[in-house]
Amino acid sequence: MRIYTYLAAQFMKNKAIFLDRDGVLNKELGDYITCYEDFFILPHVFEGLKILQQHGYLLIVITNQGGIAKKLYTLDELNKMHNYLRGELLKNGVILTDIYFCPHHPILGNCLCRKPGSLLVEKALSKYNIDPAQSFFIGDKIRDIECGEAAGVKGVFIEPNEDWTSWVSLLCSTLQKK
Ligand SMILES: [Mg+2]
Ligand SMILES: [Zn+2]
Repeated sequence: MRIYTYLAAQFMKNKAIFLDRDGVLNKELGDYITCYEDFFILPHVFEGLKILQQHGYLLIVITNQGGIAKKLYTLDELNKMHNYLRGELLKNGVILTDIYFCPHHPILGNCLCRKPGSLLVEKALSKYNIDPAQSFFIGDKIRDIECGEAAGVKGVFIEPNEDWTSWVSLLCSTLQKK
């Protein structure tokens, strides 16, 4: 039976859009975002994520939060930002599947989870049974793209705070043609 379960899982793989946080979902301010008051969701994000969700993509945030290691803000403050993000998206019918963050910083010790390392993406691929070949990583730093590609996920490289919804339209138009 085990082989059948394995095969079924292969056929039923999910697809996902991996998202960097600052500059992709909320406004990049050029420095660590240390408090909830400085967390501004970019306006195009609501519609962009909604369309992706309607096309069957899981939505997963992958973010480096080295400010935790540097004690620039607490885990509580980070949770406050992420709860706010989840809440505002939910008001618009968008459910974030998960938020993964690396709380470490190399000046205070190495880890495997900080981007460009791909550990967090690989955890998500495994936990949510995601096919990397059908998935994308939207990021505004080279390390975002490297992180995705190390796990077999294609990168979508944008400028910080750039409106990426035209890419979403393009992607979804190719899906409908299949
Ligand atoms: Mg960024
Ligand atoms: Zn880490």
